[in-house]
Amino acid sequence: MHVLVTGGAGYIGSHTVLQLLEEGHEVSIVDNFSNSSPESIRRVNSLAGRSAHLRSVDLLNQQELTKIFADTQPDAVIHFAGLKAVGESVSEPLKYYRNNVTGTLNLLDAMEAVDCRTLVFSSSATVYGESTALPLIESTPRNATNPYGRTKLHIEEMLEELAASDPRWSIANLRYFNPVGAHTSGLIGEDPQGTPNNLMPYVAQVAIGRREKVHVFGGDYPTADGTGVRDYIHVLDLAAGHLAALKYLRESAGAHTWNLGTGTGSSVLEVIEAFARVSGKEVPYKIVERRSGDVAENYANAEKARLELGWKAEHGLEQMVEDMWRWQKGNPTGFGPIDAFGMTDEELDIFLNR
Ligand code: NAD
Ligand code: UDP
Repeated sequence: MHVLVTGGAGYIGSHTVLQLLEEGHEVSIVDNFSNSSPESIRRVNSLAGRSAHLRSVDLLNQQELTKIFADTQPDAVIHFAGLKAVGESVSEPLKYYRNNVTGTLNLLDAMEAVDCRTLVFSSSATVYGESTALPLIESTPRNATNPYGRTKLHIEEMLEELAASDPRWSIANLRYFNPVGAHTSGLIGEDPQGTPNNLMPYVAQVAIGRREKVHVFGGDYPTADGTGVRDYIHVLDLAAGHLAALKYLRESAGAHTWNLGTGTGSSVLEVIEAFARVSGKEVPYKIVERRSGDVAENYANAEKARLELGWKAEHGLEQMVEDMWRWQKGNPTGFGPIDAFGMTDEELDIFLNR
């Protein structure tokens, strides 16, 4: 298949592009590099031994986007492009609705124009909001509690309505739990800009000595050790879930929803201990106030994906931490500061050695 991947230079996108290339698919990437670097794709290409086509385009640029679809005529789209910082979405909600919701609308228009109606969308367990009925199952009522989460919820609803209106659409809403880890080569991984919001990259930066200590948000939750519990999932398992969903969509129309998680929760202290053990470094931490909006515990019921997609997460916490640590040690400052937005396609070709 020819798969167009939006946000393919980002964390989850780059790992998925690598698996698509390894499976023999043709891949075109559309990214504006607002939160990534083309260096990730240079490394993906070198790991795969073949190249994805990379286009430096913003989904908000409808004209350019339409042209790319006309040029590439993809069979299917995997849609990762989006802004994802919950805190920023509270202070700049319109930026989030514009980028995530309008960006998706533009994408759907561009797809329809070339008769491409197969789409895998990056949703999130955040659509379950503060639901306390565990484990979280796809039929749990949606109840996002911040603008970021509501962009995901609105997009899911939009995609369901679209599929209901026209049986030619095949759509997957994949609800990710907490993606962590990195490719086993240590060459690609998550490269957060500024202070990481998420636990695992923060802990990795403490272990490498870039930050002094982990602030543990709350030690009095009703969990075994009092700290928050989440369902961490290896990014390689997550990427494999996208390929499984694509395969399923080739044979089934309509909108489908799957949780992608392991089904097992780990506490903040368990994550810190695993990192200290694997890295052999001290990981100092301090228990501070709870972070507003956090739930005590959340983990997936991932049975639907197992039964329907034949997919299940294979990696445990130890492996996630080992791979994350290898990436962090080899790339203490991530991919480095490269601002590719504004590069012409020719300049990108030269940069990527094509
Ligand atoms: P990421 O920021 O690493 O990747 C997103 C990519 O999209 C980046 O390369 C960014 O430059 C690009 N992008 C953003 N807006 C764009 C636009 N308007 N036009 C073109 N490109 C644009 O994030 P990620 O962790 O790889 O997440 C991928 C998707 O998965 C996102 O939609 C995110 O909301 C969703 N998700 C992520 C997590 C997580 O914890 N990482 C959890 C649940 C869902
Ligand atoms: N967390 C923490 N310190 C941090 C970041 C996160 O204690 O610096 C906790 C947070 O309260 C939650 C867990 O780690 O219990 C996972 O948080 P993350 O932001 O990674 O994911 P999410 O909240 O989206 O599940």
